[in-house]
Amino acid sequence: MEINKENFNSEEKKNLNFIEAIVEKDLQEGKNDGRVQTRFPPEPNGYLHIGHAKAICLDFGVAQEYGGVCNLRFDDTNPVKEDVEYVDSIMEDIQWLGYHWGEVYYASDYFAQLWDFAVQLIKKGKAYVDEQTADEIARQKGTPTQPGIESPYRNRPIEESLTLFEKMNSGEIEEGKMILRAKIDMAASNMHFRDPILYRVIKTPHHRTGSTWKAYPMYDFAHGQSDYFEGVTHSLCTLEFVVHRPLYDWFIDQLMTDDYRPRQYEFNRLNLTYTVMSKRKLLQLVQEKYVSGWDDPRMPTICGLRRRGYTSQSIRNFVNLIGYTKYEAINDILLLEHAIREDLNAKAMRVSGVVDPIKLVLTNYPEGETEMLEAVNNPEDETMGSRQVAFSRELWIEREDFMEDAPKKYFRLTPGNEVRLKNAYIVKCTGCRKDGEGKVTEVYAEYDPQTRSGMPEANRKVKGTIHWVSVPHSLDAEVRLYDRLFMVEDPSAEKEKDFRELLNPESLIVKADCKVEAYLKDAKPLDSFQFQRIGYFNVDKDSVPGKLVFNRTVSLKDSWKKNA
Ligand code: ATP
Ligand code: MG
Repeated sequence: MEINKENFNSEEKKNLNFIEAIVEKDLQEGKNDGRVQTRFPPEPNGYLHIGHAKAICLDFGVAQEYGGVCNLRFDDTNPVKEDVEYVDSIMEDIQWLGYHWGEVYYASDYFAQLWDFAVQLIKKGKAYVDEQTADEIARQKGTPTQPGIESPYRNRPIEESLTLFEKMNSGEIEEGKMILRAKIDMAASNMHFRDPILYRVIKTPHHRTGSTWKAYPMYDFAHGQSDYFEGVTHSLCTLEFVVHRPLYDWFIDQLMTDDYRPRQYEFNRLNLTYTVMSKRKLLQLVQEKYVSGWDDPRMPTICGLRRRGYTSQSIRNFVNLIGYTKYEAINDILLLEHAIREDLNAKAMRVSGVVDPIKLVLTNYPEGETEMLEAVNNPEDETMGSRQVAFSRELWIEREDFMEDAPKKYFRLTPGNEVRLKNAYIVKCTGCRKDGEGKVTEVYAEYDPQTRSGMPEANRKVKGTIHWVSVPHSLDAEVRLYDRLFMVEDPSAEKEKDFRELLNPESLIVKADCKVEAYLKDAKPLDSFQFQRIGYFNVDKDSVPGKLVFNRTVSLKDSWKKNA
């Protein structure tokens, strides 16, 4: 058996996860003629979130690793919630994550085949049309320890079910008035076998098939069969489908004409602290305008994370770090933040940005003079080179880098104290000016001309280094500081409260009067930078010439490392 290891980086990944172990075993045993075929099956009813990224990395990753193919299949069986807008965004996000599908399929492509199969089941006496209400059917379900009650329509003549099933699809039957059910076993210990629903009537037009169909298959009736039609070998999904697996197999048993069978395997979902992951809840946040859209940088969506400044590499690294198991857990968002810091630390150019500016005047520096100083672009990567940064008598510094009455351990600007201005000179604070209310409006210092980098006194030890931007050379910017979207670790666990009450009111703080260095003039949306001493920022799509807008991707401090 030839195993394609082309894309398998053994440096990064030493142990097989349990799914890979299953695939390798199947290959060794010659199953499926050595074929590996997976699929990623999103329902186009929302944007992809980071949980989907976990499924994508596995579905596409396994196919890649073993020389197989992963197809993209839209599970579009409920026209009420689905839309092409979602189809397009899903494709964009998968590609951005760095994956390529083989074919694009739609469950709706199989509506005719699924219909024929349903008719076949009716003819075999294995399905019937039920006219009870949803409530009645739910009441008859029983409990895991108590058998259900058989529907009075269960044993109606086959011909009658066939006629009614036709009517369910012709528009004659109103929504909710009839459903098609499999006739299996109302006493089965697996509740999914208690005459599961196969078809329901939906009159909303479908985004692809229009009004051709009015009877739509349920997920359970569409998914396994679609896998079978396509030749999927390993159908990977999340743990909540474990209890559906016997039904998945049952339908294929009824359908198969040869030895080939797709197999379903389940892994744990990705759950993240301080956010929600359900598309229904995310849609609510969008529709009710708690966030600016699906791509609001606070959202756990792929497009939100991208806009926030997350790289696809960092998301793949994060997914690789948390791994795949058979146990549900909640993952610490600090680990995701760790992954982006690590990636940007290696890649992002260091620049100067002042979020809360106050003016520093170097009283002994010649007025009107400008000198150019060298700044290293990224100390982690010397191939990124260096640039020239303008320095002058008036500089913007962070307001919090000056204190008039400072405590002992304050090593920044305070009267009488020396600090180094990053990439420039050592300066000694001489005082400040205040307005009528005592608010500091300007800070004064004297620079030491002997202390510029490369000069004899350059190595003189001072305890603090602060960043700055030359006033006449600075650009105005708006900076958006993001914090956790929710105030509690696991919003879904708080059953008493509506999740919307748990939103963090300070998840977005806008700083409108920031100053950044001139180098950023031509920065484009999505470009990432490290604002020295503050964090990683990227350019937002709201940025326009003359008014740059930056998102804080993540602050510099890594509390994950410390905790670990
Ligand atoms: P949601 O519950 O958020 O609406 P879903 O499961 O209905 O998500 P689908 O579009 O049906 O969303 O999901 C497509 C694939 O992504 C499925 O295989 C599903 O198991 C997987 N998936 C969805 N959410 C997660 C998650 N949080 N972690 C891992 N995989 C996920
Ligand atoms: Mg789903």
